[in-house]
Amino acid sequence: MTTSAESTQAVDDFMSRLTRRSPDQPEFHQAVREVAESLVPFILEHPEYRKARILERLAEPDRTVIFRVTWVDDHGDIQINRGYRVQFSNAIGPYKGGLRFHPTVNLSVLKFLGFEQIFKNSLTGLPMGGAKGGSNFDPKGKSDAEVERFCQAFMTELYRHIGDDVDVPAGDIGVGGREIGFLFGQYRRITGHVNAVLTGKGLSYGGSLIRPEATGYGCVYFVERMLHQIGHELAGKTCVVSGAGNVAIYTAEKVQQLGGKVVTLSDSDGFIHDPDGIDEEKLAFVKNLKEVRRGRIQEYANRFTCEFHAGKRPWAVPCDVAFPSAHENEIGREDAEMLVKNGCLAVGEGANMPTALDATHVLIDGGVAFGPGKAANAGGVSVSGLEISQNAQRLSWSREEVDQRLGAIMTRIHERCVDYGLRRDGRINYVDGANRAGFAKVAEAMLAGGVF
Ligand code: GLU
Repeated sequence: MTTSAESTQAVDDFMSRLTRRSPDQPEFHQAVREVAESLVPFILEHPEYRKARILERLAEPDRTVIFRVTWVDDHGDIQINRGYRVQFSNAIGPYKGGLRFHPTVNLSVLKFLGFEQIFKNSLTGLPMGGAKGGSNFDPKGKSDAEVERFCQAFMTELYRHIGDDVDVPAGDIGVGGREIGFLFGQYRRITGHVNAVLTGKGLSYGGSLIRPEATGYGCVYFVERMLHQIGHELAGKTCVVSGAGNVAIYTAEKVQQLGGKVVTLSDSDGFIHDPDGIDEEKLAFVKNLKEVRRGRIQEYANRFTCEFHAGKRPWAVPCDVAFPSAHENEIGREDAEMLVKNGCLAVGEGANMPTALDATHVLIDGGVAFGPGKAANAGGVSVSGLEISQNAQRLSWSREEVDQRLGAIMTRIHERCVDYGLRRDGRINYVDGANRAGFAKVAEAMLAGGVF
């Protein structure tokens, strides 16, 4: 067993080389540090991984494509955005990961997301490598016609870097069914190919049932497993959910179906607090508000007469389970301290890296069952993997079949986290478990593939 002083030194040395090589990429550094803290002690006990420098190789993307996206807005003015695809690792399967359209998108954010995706996709047990892409384009306030022209311009460059056995993008923040439709249409127009080149497709042209629900449903299935592990169940539990997008909505739906009570949702303006719980009818209102009318969550408070907290996040609302489902770094150290103080039992990360690194330590040290995004939110990419399988077979599975497979995958991910994350005191460190289990498969594939 290696001493923790030796590990800490090795993590610091590794991180200082990485930050020197890639300065000014704070989100990427944060994601790698979290993984390195779990992996370095593990690697120190596996000389074959150390000798082959697997972690160092994984922390450098296979390639990064950066391109200009030029399009014409509704006023006839020319607009210019930047497009990206970061292909991190295809050691276990074609590159796979979403596209994010948001003004905060830059290389650091996409490298953090692409790096995380390697381990997440490995954990699913399906043959998918890791990648991420997107643009600093802001879909907010744009007309459908503008979004269509942007997506066409974006795909006009991206198409040459992707393909169903090369790299299969999907959605992420700002990229939903509408955007995937336009992107797929342009791919088909340019290449004439109709295959699994993108996932999250509409049902009429190759999409899978349950894909829109998959990240939220999967996160709830994972949290159920974590709760069982500590002798609890979801029924009767008060849950705080952040966000009001696809992940948050379907997390709330599944919690409610399983007998829990969701009392908050949020967007960038603030959060609503509905102590009576967000039931089916209220959720139908939110789906229409966010998916059709693209309105603000404050309207919920007006419609159902509850509190709206402008400019705030929901973490001070007492809860049994928290589902951060909005964006990175939405739970800071003080929020984590508040969750621990209020007796929160479990956190399931529906978003990618919503918990800052010091806040993660506070939650784990405070005895909270903490499900990191690469395990807890892996349901989305899992059903993307199932979409690829259905496309390859030219078949569509039923809702029940996809949901049953999603449940089985989340249970398996939980088991792998337990296998790799069991601590001497009998508790599970899900961060270590997810990082080590995800890494082990990729590392074996890289050892088998030789040096490149
Ligand atoms: N963007 C999602 C994620 O973070 C889904 C990616 C995919 O389906 O490829 O995992």
